Amino acid sequence: MGRYIGPVCRFCRREGMKLYLKGERCYTEKCALERRNYPPGDQGARRKMRKMTEYGRRLREKQKLKRMYNMREEQFVRFFEMAARMREGQVGENLMRLLERRLDNVVYRLGFAASRNQARQIVRHGHILVNGKKVDIPSYLVKEGDVITVSEKSQDFIKKIVEANANEVPAWLESNKEALTGKVVRYPTREEMDTRINERLIVEFYSR
Ligand code: SF4
Repeated sequence: MGRYIGPVCRFCRREGMKLYLKGERCYTEKCALERRNYPPGDQGARRKMRKMTEYGRRLREKQKLKRMYNMREEQFVRFFEMAARMREGQVGENLMRLLERRLDNVVYRLGFAASRNQARQIVRHGHILVNGKKVDIPSYLVKEGDVITVSEKSQDFIKKIVEANANEVPAWLESNKEALTGKVVRYPTREEMDTRINERLIVEFYSR
């Protein structure tokens, strides 16, 4: 099979960074970025060489994080505002932590979905329970101690995904892939979130 250059892979090529939007494929040599590490389009290779303005750097950093979590601008801004209102911590780090706490992200991190996009569909279709109650809102924010399970009728479906998925579960979550249950042990530290992102640039982007 050839290298897959799907629409979402263009986002990774644009940013010159793997955003892991395609599930299993992202972890194999089929990843479009493994070979073509420059922005899409004929001018792509040349565009990479051009020096970016300060504004451009901030914008690109914001786009990276937004696309990684598969969000629209309005919702991303709402998350940013929520982070800015928090009494403790730094805004950028707070933003990243809020994004990690999204239920669709947690389902992905637990290994119950191959990508955040698939995790979003899984949550939307009512396959996921939080503390025994169905939650079909992908942006739902999990809390410490929350227990994530898979609904009775969806066990076989999710089991197949889990079996094909070798992603490592981060230490702030506990995942029982046999029983298809997970727990939010604590919130992630900065080091446990994507260290390729410079969140300071994102704060600067919205503080213009
Ligand atoms: Fe495509 Fe995934 Fe590679 Fe991004 S990381 S280019 S989405 S295969």
